[in-house]
Amino acid sequence: MPRLVMKFGGTSVANPDRIRRAAKRVGVEVAKGYEVIVIVSAMSGKTNELVGWVEDVSPLYDAREYDAIVSSGENVTAGLMALTLQQMDVPARSWQGWQVPVKTTDAHGSARIEEIPTANLDAKFNEGMKVAVVAGFQGISHEGRTTTLGRGGSDTTAVAFAAAFGAERCDIYTDVDGVYTTDPRIEDKARKLDRIAFEEMLELASLGAKVLQTRSVELAMRYGVKLRVLSSFEEMDDNAGTLVCAEEDIVESNVVSGVAFVRDEAKMTLISVADRPGIAAAIFGPLSEAGVNVDMIVQNISEEGRTDMTFSCPVNEVPRAEKAMADAKAAGSINYHDLVADTDVAKVSVVGIGMRSHAGVAAKMFSALQAEGVNIKVITTSEIKISVLIDRKYMELAVQALHDAFDLDKVA
Ligand code: ASP
Ligand code: MG
Repeated sequence: MPRLVMKFGGTSVANPDRIRRAAKRVGVEVAKGYEVIVIVSAMSGKTNELVGWVEDVSPLYDAREYDAIVSSGENVTAGLMALTLQQMDVPARSWQGWQVPVKTTDAHGSARIEEIPTANLDAKFNEGMKVAVVAGFQGISHEGRTTTLGRGGSDTTAVAFAAAFGAERCDIYTDVDGVYTTDPRIEDKARKLDRIAFEEMLELASLGAKVLQTRSVELAMRYGVKLRVLSSFEEMDDNAGTLVCAEEDIVESNVVSGVAFVRDEAKMTLISVADRPGIAAAIFGPLSEAGVNVDMIVQNISEEGRTDMTFSCPVNEVPRAEKAMADAKAAGSINYHDLVADTDVAKVSVVGIGMRSHAGVAAKMFSALQAEGVNIKVITTSEIKISVLIDRKYMELAVQALHDAFDLDKVA
């Protein structure tokens, strides 16, 4: 029998009524002849509540216990979804991560899936079970303890199951009806994309378009899992939502597919560090050990053997970055005159696979920003993306100007 993975996010399972709505959709697919693996998130707000309790009890918590607590939200929804399906006479059973088992690394709080043996679920499907409801976001470590996959991890659970069970498609049900050219709350002309390439989605996901966990897109790309993002609040329709797929499956596309942004960035500059071999390693090694997610890096012009080094990171990591640098200075591994933090910046990026074959995208981006009087502080580029750091107060303006400049409201 063909198989389908259907993943329901927190808002789609927020209460028993919503769970019934979601279960009805599952029932429709079962009636079409699919065996379905349903992956559920915790009810909306639940995981935040659990994390809050952990931090209340123990600010420097033991990550094993964090996982024991925070994974519980999904267990509740999995059981409720299985019961709801049974009420509808759909043969269903729930599974927690360890029961499948979803084998993961030992990295509690951000574990990675290593293997999903299919035997247990297959045996039940062979006995006539139509729906396996699996608690997303969790697995089991080598030690036999429950792990979690990082926030938003149920998306990754869903894609991993689709790959392991050879599902025809992985449908991600959420509260938005697809992937947009940018956030519609900022630009009301934002347009839903019918299709987007894995690589573009990867850039948009990691750039703050919070639709899918980045890791889930990486996995889908690696295993060629057809991924569809759609709303659980709209009429069922086989062409609804956005299909995330291989580049070859996209017929027409704009040069730029989307404008992404990250609001709370900081720009840090180490003034006057020695310009010598190994200086970058001496700076960025300690930052990475301190858990600072460095994004952009610019080394400035060198004068008399000294240079300035600029990098960006999330604003809430500034204290950690400052401490890591002060410690490295105290230990004598680096020397700098000053560390200047600009905590009022945002990152805005344009993304599109069309950039590979079109020149002039950067120039167009910069002149669109210039026309609005937006000053660019740092620029980085990759094959399919150009990002700039700008003052946070201009972020909305910049997103709108770029959306306009690249005609993203119009289909190519
Ligand atoms: N419930 C978890 C979270 O809120 C995992 C998920 O929903 O994907 O991050
Ligand atoms: Mg999510």
